[in-house]
Amino acid sequence: MLGQTKDTPLFALPYSPSLDISSMDRSVDPCTDFFRYSCGAWLKKNPIPPDQARWDVYSKLEQDNQRFLWGILEQASKPTENRSLVEREIGDFFYACMDESAVEKAGASPLKAALGEIAALKSVRDLPAFLGRQHLNITGNHMLFGFGSNQDFADSTQVIAFATAGGLGLPDRDYYTKTDAKSQETRQKYVEHVQKMLELLGDQPPAAKAGAQTVMDIESALAKVSLTRVERRDPYKLFHKITRPDFQALTPAFQWEPYFKASGLLNTAVLNVTEPAFFKELQSMLQSRNIADWKTYLRWHLVHAKAPYLSSQFVAANFDFYNKYLFGLQEMPPRWKRCVRRVDGQLGEALGQVFVQKTFGPDTKQRAQAMTKEIEAAMQSEIGQLPWMGDETKKRALEKLHSIINKIGYPDKWRDYSSIKISRDDYAGNVERATIFESRRELAKIGKPVDKTEWQMTPPTVNAYYDPQMNDINFPAGVLQPPLFDSKIDDAPNYGDTGATIGHELTHGFDDEGRQFDAQGNLKDWWTKNDAEEFQKRADCISEQYSSYIIVDDIRINGKLTLGEDVADLGGTFLAYLAWKSATKGQNLQPADGLTPDQRFFVGMAQWACGDERPETKRANAITNPHSPLEYRINGVVSNMPEFGQAFACRVGQPMVRPKPCKVW
Ligand SMILES: [Zn+2]
Repeated sequence: MLGQTKDTPLFALPYSPSLDISSMDRSVDPCTDFFRYSCGAWLKKNPIPPDQARWDVYSKLEQDNQRFLWGILEQASKPTENRSLVEREIGDFFYACMDESAVEKAGASPLKAALGEIAALKSVRDLPAFLGRQHLNITGNHMLFGFGSNQDFADSTQVIAFATAGGLGLPDRDYYTKTDAKSQETRQKYVEHVQKMLELLGDQPPAAKAGAQTVMDIESALAKVSLTRVERRDPYKLFHKITRPDFQALTPAFQWEPYFKASGLLNTAVLNVTEPAFFKELQSMLQSRNIADWKTYLRWHLVHAKAPYLSSQFVAANFDFYNKYLFGLQEMPPRWKRCVRRVDGQLGEALGQVFVQKTFGPDTKQRAQAMTKEIEAAMQSEIGQLPWMGDETKKRALEKLHSIINKIGYPDKWRDYSSIKISRDDYAGNVERATIFESRRELAKIGKPVDKTEWQMTPPTVNAYYDPQMNDINFPAGVLQPPLFDSKIDDAPNYGDTGATIGHELTHGFDDEGRQFDAQGNLKDWWTKNDAEEFQKRADCISEQYSSYIIVDDIRINGKLTLGEDVADLGGTFLAYLAWKSATKGQNLQPADGLTPDQRFFVGMAQWACGDERPETKRANAITNPHSPLEYRINGVVSNMPEFGQAFACRVGQPMVRPKPCKVW
C-alpha cells in the first residue's frame, strides 16, 4: 500500500508490546529460521514505505517519535507570547523550514556569497583561508578533508585537533576503487549527477560535463590513498600525533596558518593526522592541478553540502541520486519529516528537552538503570569464569568493566543555543548559523579537558552507543520505549530486547576495536600476548561465520567490517540471558501464549529486529554499514547459543544449531 505514512502529528506515543504474538509466523520451524518464525507476520504486515530505505521496528518507532515531535514543533511554531526560549528556538527554526514558498523564492541565493569567494580565488595559495571559513559552515569531511576535535588516543582526558581524510562525494572510498559492473555504473551515474548540479549553478552542459569529470578525477585520486573501513577499525592506523610545524611540513603547498586563522583556531600545538598518506597525496595534487580544477571541485562540494536547504530543483536532484538511486527510495519524505529531522539535527538538545518532559519519567530511568547494573553483574561473573583468559587480563577487564559510565535517557545539562540567531523567514541562514555554532563548539574543545557529560545522540534518537574513549554506554530516551523497553510486559522479552541491547553496548568495550582501549579510555594494550591470541581465534570464528552470509545478489557480508557489531550482538544476548536467569531465580515462571519463559526471552529478543531493507540499501550497506543485515543479527546469534537450541528443542544438524558454535564473551 502506498502512502501508508499517516501525515498527522501524534500527541501521544502509540503502545505496541515488546513481544507481539501476532508478528510471528508459527508455520516456520524456529530451528530452521528463527528470524522468520519471530517476525514473519510482521514482515507481511509492514511493507517498506515509499519514503524509507529500510523499515523495521526501530524505524517505525523513530517515525512515531518524529510524528510526536512534529506535534511539539507545530505548537511551538505559533508565535504566541508565552513561548519559552527553547520553544521559540525550535518553533521558529521549524516554521522557517516549513515555509516552502520562502525557500522556493530564495532559490540558490543562499550560495551566492560562497560562490563569489570561489570565483575570486586566484591561486592554490588562496585555498586555506577559504576552506577555513567554509569548513565551519558545512558538516562532515566532504570538502577536501576534515578538521575537528577529538579525545587524544594517548590521553583520553584531553581534547586535541584531528585532521582527517575526506573530500569524497560518494559514500565510501570503495565506490571509486571497485571494478565490478555495478560500481562502474554507479560512478557513471555520479558523474551525471555532479554535471546536473553544476548546470543548476548555471554552467552550460559541455562545461558542466567536463567539470564533473574533473571532480571524479580528483575524488578518485583521494579515494585511492584513503584507508578502507576495515583498516579504520584499527585505532593504531589512525593515530599520528605530530606538532604543528611537522604538520605544515607534510603539506608545503597548503599553508595552515591562514586556515587556522580563518577557522578561529589559534592555539593548536599538536594534532592527530589520522591518515598522513592522504595529506601527502593532497600535497602532490595541490602542486599538479591548477586553480580552475579546484574551483570546480569546490563549487560542486558547496552545492552538494547545501542542496537539501535550497529550492525544490536542488532538493529533487539531490534526492534522485543519493536517496533514490543509491538507496532505492521511491518517494521523497514529506517536508514535515525532513524539517523535524533538521531541527533534531541542529537543535537536538532543545527539542530533546521537550520530548523528555513529555515522554520519559523517572521510573523508566530507574528501571533502565537497574537492568544495566544487572547486565554488568552478569558480565562480571562471565569474565571471572572465562576459560580462555588468564588472571592478569581478567583483572584488567574487570577494572575496565567497573569504570564504565552508564548514561540513561538524556544529558544532565542541556546545550544552550541562545547565541544562534534564528529567524522565521530564513531557513538556509538558520541552518548556516546553527552549523557554524556547532563547528565552533567542537573546535573550542581543543586544548581543554574532555567534558564527560556530553552526548553524541539526541534524546529522541532510537539507538544507543558505546564510546571507547569516554568508556561510557549511552541510551537515549527514544530507545527506552515500547516496543523496545516495555514496563507493561513480563521480564523475559524485556531482557531479551533491551537487556540484550545494554549487553551489546557493554560488549563493544571488549570487541576487536574497543578492547584496545583501557579502563581510562586510552589506547593501551592491557592484554597478555597469549590472551590476545585467544581472543583473536574466537573473533575469527565469528568473522568467518558472518562472511558466509549473503546480503543481496552475490554480495556477502564483509565479516571483518561487521566483526565488532557481531561480537556485541552475541555477547549482549548471552549476558542478557544470564542476567534474566539471575533476576528471576526462584520465581515460578509460567508459559504464556504457548511459549515457555525461555522461548519468550528469545522471541522478545528477535522481535527488535523485525524488518527489511530495500535491495539498493543492502548493496550500499554491504560497503558502509558495520552492522550485519537484520536476519543475521538474529539467526547468527541464536545459532551460536546452546541455550536457544534447548529452549526450542532444536537438533544438531538443523540450521539454527551450528555444529561448532562461536563464543567470545
Ligand atoms: Zn553496536
